[in-house]
Amino acid sequence: MHSGRIIDVKCRCGYLLFRYYKAGKGRLIKCLISRLTDDFVGLKGAETFSRPKCPNCGKELGIIMMIHGEPALKLNQGTIATIRL
Ligand SMILES: [Zn+2]
Repeated sequence: MHSGRIIDVKCRCGYLLFRYYKAGKGRLIKCLISRLTDDFVGLKGAETFSRPKCPNCGKELGIIMMIHGEPALKLNQGTIATIRL
C-alpha cells in the first residue's frame, strides 16, 4: 500500500531543511533518513546521537537515533515549523 506523500520540512526561521516521504497521517515526530528525498542539512551520514543544526539560524533540529536499526532524526518540535498536510 502506498499512501504516503512528500512533504517540505522547514525550520521556524523559514529555511527549507529537507523533503521527506511521509507514510500515513499524523504529526511528524521522527524522520527515517532513508526516506529523505532532498537533504539541505547533511543528515545523510550524520552520526548517531549527533544533533544537526539549521544551516541558516543554528538551532538544533533534533537528535539522530537508531530506530529498528535505521538512522532517524527525532525532531525538536520547538524548532520545526508546523507542517501542513
Ligand atoms: Zn533555522
